[in-house]
Amino acid sequence: AVPGSSADRDNSMGINLNNDEQLRALAKQVDAIEADWRAMPLVPGASTSGAQVPVTNPADRRQVVGRWQSSDAGTIERALCNAVEAQPGWDATPVDTRAAMLERAADLLEARMPQYIAMCTREAGKTIPDGVAEVREAVDFLRYYAGEARKLFVPDPLPGPTGETNTLQHAGRGVFACISPWNFPLAIFVGQVAAALAAGNSVLAKPAEQTNLVGFAAVKLLHEAGIPDKVLQFLPGDGATVGAALTSDPRVSGVVFTGSNATALAINRALAARDGAIGVLIAETGGQNALIADSSALPEQLVKDALASAFTSAGQRCSAARVLFVQDDIADHVIDMLTGAMAELKVGDPALLSTDVGPVIDEDALRMLEAHAERMAGEARLIAQAAMDDDTAHGTYFAPRAWELQSLSQLKRENFGPALHVIRWKGEELDAVIDAINSTGYGLTLGIHSRIDDTVERIAARARVGNVYVNRNQIGAVVGVQPFGGQRLSGTGPKAGGPHYLPRFATEKTVTINT
Ligand code: GLU
Repeated sequence: AVPGSSADRDNSMGINLNNDEQLRALAKQVDAIEADWRAMPLVPGASTSGAQVPVTNPADRRQVVGRWQSSDAGTIERALCNAVEAQPGWDATPVDTRAAMLERAADLLEARMPQYIAMCTREAGKTIPDGVAEVREAVDFLRYYAGEARKLFVPDPLPGPTGETNTLQHAGRGVFACISPWNFPLAIFVGQVAAALAAGNSVLAKPAEQTNLVGFAAVKLLHEAGIPDKVLQFLPGDGATVGAALTSDPRVSGVVFTGSNATALAINRALAARDGAIGVLIAETGGQNALIADSSALPEQLVKDALASAFTSAGQRCSAARVLFVQDDIADHVIDMLTGAMAELKVGDPALLSTDVGPVIDEDALRMLEAHAERMAGEARLIAQAAMDDDTAHGTYFAPRAWELQSLSQLKRENFGPALHVIRWKGEELDAVIDAINSTGYGLTLGIHSRIDDTVERIAARARVGNVYVNRNQIGAVVGVQPFGGQRLSGTGPKAGGPHYLPRFATEKTVTINT
């Protein structure tokens, strides 16, 4: 058990995809492509008059699914003033009241799962199973941080000499900027916001530009659950406008960010350059995640898990496997099986339950992946390329691919999509393989497939990563069960969905009384 986790808090059940009634409710939402989803700043006292930007469906760019409006400078300033004004009252609100609001939001979200799954599919191109997992994780974060807050925000009596009482108390830090990614437009968005709110902070939530509609719907739901509108405000807009304004402003006490390593470093610099304020940064970024298989691995299980790790969510997870290191004596067999399995992948409309791999998020992502494929064509052997359905012509699709490389140094950066690389290794090279993985500087997930305990222990001990998965896939960390997050270039920690996350959003005060 995770220290501090509570066995009586169950994770969300999601929806049952074998249940006709639940499936029909879901299909009704997913089929209703209407162009009337909206996102705009939610900032009391501000009026934004920006242009309405259309949002298109990644599976078919001809379909407009909604419109959004960016925050302007006046709106951002108003939001900062509101957040500063509202924070002390929120911090003074009893923790039970704050937690109950988050739990109410979890209940609402669970009751409206089909609608949120549909939005994740239509705005972010998520497959239905991914959409289900996404909403479940958001629900889990709300309940988990509510429960953790109830434990953290009670004064903790400490030992002390006779005649003195010592207590350690926690309170909010102030105003938090939550800057979230498009690959988990609901789960990570809600997770960041829930943690910051649970700890007594006011929140300025900036979603990724690609997924404003989902973020907006989540904030509306949190307001409905009771979170005051000045305590949680919504600031859609690009990084150069909204992100830069928030991270350079000394009124912001902390930033929680999930996204690229380059942006995390830019935020770190912006926070450091401010006069009169030391800000805290909680960042979770990318990885160059490896899966190491030795000759004792079960090939069927290995290939199944490699496929899931590399291609679920079209490979658009920080946790996704990018490089499969396979021991040479099973390599040919594994590569054959991988080729066969990739031929069975169904790549197409994410709204169909039978689809394995949907589109990538936008044209930029597609261009980057195509450029990578072009580079690989010159220096690697293409092992397999999945076929794409006919209905992919108007979407931003990239056919899942696997290449065989000679060395990890051929990969200069993370390729955020359905692109897997395979490298053979010889038995005596195990330590060198782990050192090569460590030398990328990233340290997020690592998969191990081996049935030799010593080997598993040796790899797990030497690898400098945040999450190690043995004889299973390496994605889909479960809140409260598998705290998630990396080290070094992959993030600052603490881990989301773990017992040390919430304290980073809070200040500590020690009170010593001479009695
Ligand atoms: N927590 C997700 C997982 O375990 C990945 C999060 C991310 O991509 O940022 O798959």
